[in-house]
Amino acid sequence: CGIVGYIGTKQAQEVLLEGLSRLEYRGYDSAGIATIEKNVIRVEKKKGRLQNLVDFLEKKPFRGNVGIGHTRWATHGVPSDENAHPHFSLNKEIAVVHNGIIENYMALRDELTGLGHRFISDTDTEVVAHLLNELYTGDIVETVQIALKRIRGSYALGILCAKEPDKIVAVRKDSPLIVGLGKGENFIASDIPAILKYTKEVYLLDNGEMAVLTKNEVTILNAAGETIDKDVFVVDWDP
Ligand code: GLU
Repeated sequence: CGIVGYIGTKQAQEVLLEGLSRLEYRGYDSAGIATIEKNVIRVEKKKGRLQNLVDFLEKKPFRGNVGIGHTRWATHGVPSDENAHPHFSLNKEIAVVHNGIIENYMALRDELTGLGHRFISDTDTEVVAHLLNELYTGDIVETVQIALKRIRGSYALGILCAKEPDKIVAVRKDSPLIVGLGKGENFIASDIPAILKYTKEVYLLDNGEMAVLTKNEVTILNAAGETIDKDVFVVDWDP
């Protein structure tokens, strides 16, 4: 039910856990994060309170300056560690956080299972990670654009690709998502409070828009894949 993402020079884990704590008001049943550390995606997720995840990660912190985090409000699959996000392809090349519902997940899951993908959760979301892995062209932005043509439903997605560790791809349709603009760092979040500690300058993504974040740059694409100029919205309230 909440998404946060970070790319920059800070330890991503810190920013993600801070952001998720600001999204607790939205309600959730589990929480998780993924970071990229030396081109390897690491994922940890826990059922229950965010504090369970915090306690666990305090003992063995993830390093890495890029990551995504999630608090889940289960729609498909019971609250459990396995069903918590991020979800990932089994080769761990793709990790995904998602708010919303993938309506045609059953058909996609059957198709991908037929192609040899093994699923480890009962969620609708997991198909997105496998689909991106299956379709990967060597360019994650292009791959997401191709994959979205196959996906029905509502989504705010935050996506990591181990082969392109300097990037976060984010896209939304009928679920909220914003981009936070920093200096040498950028953010995604489902709501402004998650990132207000770090920046007051945001892009409010419209339906169908995609954001490609590096630490120094944010590119916004419309549903047709064209780069667009977006007005910066300056938040005028304090955390
Ligand atoms: N439908 C997804 C799930 O059940 C996402 C739920 C959410 O928005 O938190 O895992």
